[in-house]
Amino acid sequence: MTTDKLLDATDQCVKCGLCLPHCPTYRLSRVEAESPRGRISLVQGLVSGVLSPSARLDGHLASCLECRACESVCPSLVGVGSIMDQVYAQRTLTLPPWRRQLRLGWLKSLGSPRLMRAAQRLGALYRLVGGARLARRLGLSRLPLVNAYARLAEGLQPPPRWEPQGAEGAEVALFLGCSSEVTQAGALEAAAQVLGRLGIPMVRPGWQGCCGAMLRHNGFPREADQRLQRNAAALGDKVLVGVASACVAELRAHPGLAQAAELCAYLDAVSWPNGLNLSPLSADVLVHEPCSHRNQLGGNGAVHRLLARIPALRVAALPDNALCCGAAGTYLLQHPDTALALLEPKLAHLNRLRPSFLVTTNPGCALHLAAGAREAGLPIEVCHPVELIARQLPPLGVR
Ligand code: SF4
Ligand code: SF4
Repeated sequence: MTTDKLLDATDQCVKCGLCLPHCPTYRLSRVEAESPRGRISLVQGLVSGVLSPSARLDGHLASCLECRACESVCPSLVGVGSIMDQVYAQRTLTLPPWRRQLRLGWLKSLGSPRLMRAAQRLGALYRLVGGARLARRLGLSRLPLVNAYARLAEGLQPPPRWEPQGAEGAEVALFLGCSSEVTQAGALEAAAQVLGRLGIPMVRPGWQGCCGAMLRHNGFPREADQRLQRNAAALGDKVLVGVASACVAELRAHPGLAQAAELCAYLDAVSWPNGLNLSPLSADVLVHEPCSHRNQLGGNGAVHRLLARIPALRVAALPDNALCCGAAGTYLLQHPDTALALLEPKLAHLNRLRPSFLVTTNPGCALHLAAGAREAGLPIEVCHPVELIARQLPPLGVR
């Protein structure tokens, strides 16, 4: 987007302020510059040259979660997420080359399936040697950044055990991206199981890579487009089904991948064999709705409809789902204190309602919420909704 187009996009804002009570960072700080309207004014000042760049100004822009809660209530349809992406891209270009390369290297490492598998093994070792206890004793857990990485690595899972490629000639391909195999291993196994029982042949293509969302939301649109293009070239001929709502939202930005489906929406839309009845489960489940699912994919009604197939399951939405949990892609690593402050009200709801399960469709949210529940001593399993569906499938041969 050129500077003129960026200014045009911000000019759509009529400064009505209707978005302010819906913005998580404004609700925390009550500072105008931490609100959508305030950030748009800062972008206008910066891009038009009225304001000079400063660390303080950059800080207000960078603290946006890109949750897009403001977009869903804005009467002028201001695309705050896209405006923030564009301004980050412009600000990134002004960084000294070594800082730009450092940031790019960090983002690429987070988007590398190989490095994510190594992180999973480190996390397992950390658990095995009681790393959390040791870090507390050494005072390391008080360092927000160390704490943020450690609590996430602890939640990573060993990659799923499944048939390597799946059915020959299948039309449905499961999207793994960079990290699903270690952040959502259970969801992938469950997806394969449920699709199999519905008689839908599925393939796991040999080449898969990061969708590019982390790069796009951190000021590297060219590199993000390259990731999307590679995925489109490798997977564009299949119906792509993803277990991570944020990745599906990003994939849809490419015209060749516009049909990418979120797993629950896909399973809700296909017909189920007559007589395939799920076993009852008498338990309480709360449904968390990630911002990407709510504000970019049109909401998670399909999750509720799928879970309603399990007899005796008591399903309700986690209160205040419209407010971001603080995970927000890489945000929880870049702003760990804000991420924890936004998690607090979620944990208060969980503590009050004490469900057996909390289900969510985005891996970053799942890791963040699970770490919070673990630290608060809440015996709640955080998983993908389709994991519950898979567990309640009747044994093979039984209808
Ligand atoms: S972003 Fe939308 S809701 Fe917020 S102040 Fe501007 S026009 Fe109003
Ligand atoms: S995207 Fe989220 S954090 Fe950013 S301004 Fe909008 S509501 Fe606030």
